[in-house]
Amino acid sequence: MSYQIAIDGPAGAGKSTIAKEIAKKLGFIYVDTGAMYRAMALYLLRRGISPEESEKISAASQEADITIAYQEGVQQVLLDKENVTTLLRTEEVGNMASASSVNPDVRKKLVDLQRILASRENVVMDGRDIGTCVLPDANVKIYLTASTACRAKRRYDELKAKGETCDLADIEGDIKDRDHRDMTREHSPLRQAEDAVLLDSSNLTIKEVTEKILALVKAEAGKR
Ligand code: C5P
Repeated sequence: MSYQIAIDGPAGAGKSTIAKEIAKKLGFIYVDTGAMYRAMALYLLRRGISPEESEKISAASQEADITIAYQEGVQQVLLDKENVTTLLRTEEVGNMASASSVNPDVRKKLVDLQRILASRENVVMDGRDIGTCVLPDANVKIYLTASTACRAKRRYDELKAKGETCDLADIEGDIKDRDHRDMTREHSPLRQAEDAVLLDSSNLTIKEVTEKILALVKAEAGKR
């Protein structure tokens, strides 16, 4: 059996940074499931499909060929064989990913792919529904969150560092909308799994959060 660590939480809580650190420390692969929803969103945007066109989204999601590869341990997302990894982290793609991820056909296709990856290798997987739906038997489950203001500032700094023009109030607004949509959708809404450990990263450094999770992994291994 592969070893599975599930990290869920809202946008900007630091999931990917922490998950990458943990994966590196343990020699596991890091699976960024948000990037898969983003690749699907890019596919839809390129076809001019809008978030309201649910039948078109369902049909298009079955045509999109999304695969995951690793280059020197770093996840690459291929969309119809094109490596689109560097095109995924824009606000436009993120907002479309949030809107289209409510679609059950999109979710089923990507959840199947995520389960295949987790059955083959030891994984640290992050997303919104990993502990509740994708990997209900994960060895360690974390629900990582932080205050809205703190998450907005982090996303702002990230975009600024990449040279993108952005506005802090707009980002905070987008984060609130995205949280609301992710938490209230019908299929696999974002929520803390009953057996997940809650970590609030607002006042913790990356190192502190990483250490807390590694301690949980160690404690879990001790129980077996
Ligand atoms: O984490 P990231 O911001 O890259 O995710 C983009 C969007 O994809 C999220 O807002 C969420 O709506 C969706 N998502 C999801 N389930 C996951 C991962 C991401 O619904 N497991």
